[in-house]
Amino acid sequence: MHVDSSASNSSKPVLVFATHNANKVRELQEMLGDTYEIRSLTDIGCHEEIVEDAPTLEGNAQIKARHVVEHYGLDCFADDTGLEVDALDGAPGVFSARYAGTHGDAEGNMAKLLAELERVGASSQEARAAQFRTVICLIRNGQEHLISGVCKGAIATERSGAKGFGYDPIFTPEGHACSFADMAPEDKNAISHRGRAVRSMVNMLT
Ligand code: IMP
Repeated sequence: MHVDSSASNSSKPVLVFATHNANKVRELQEMLGDTYEIRSLTDIGCHEEIVEDAPTLEGNAQIKARHVVEHYGLDCFADDTGLEVDALDGAPGVFSARYAGTHGDAEGNMAKLLAELERVGASSQEARAAQFRTVICLIRNGQEHLISGVCKGAIATERSGAKGFGYDPIFTPEGHACSFADMAPEDKNAISHRGRAVRSMVNMLT
């Protein structure tokens, strides 16, 4: 399906965020203010599954953004995030969402990661070094850009905190004594991989 407009009714340029998550879209719209009109996949009627089967975060972000540009003719950006653990040669990385086998099984994913670090004997804070990395693929006016944001830290030995999602209870960001799941959302956002990547993109767009 082609949507035949690159400008909205209010004549702001349209930028699609390749997600169905309305909260993510609202948050980004607030950061961009009046400069762009952000639309979700739901907003443009994109309900088909976009298969993210690339071996890298960059590749998966490109698959999603290119799908929207090719099938809907609209400028778009897509993100993909992974947790990269040094002692595990960068795993779970691109497989972070389904590390334990089932997509989105946060408890299973954390249990597997803690067990793997024990298996390889990574007990000190240094040995448990890790980073979250978000990659954004932005395609605007036919030009493709890759933008990334990193948050360095370490994998704790036990879960702590009830906020956030995914691996937050076992990730201790550098310079902090608590986990991401112990932090207020705005404090996490100020230092997080995703926050950094999104702010870089917003700077580029505004
Ligand atoms: P996505 O690309 O944003 O869907 O992220 C892929 C997976 O990485 C998620 O399913 C989570 O397991 C993990 N993840 C991404 N961002 C975070 C975060 O900020 N905290 C904890 N886990 C995250």
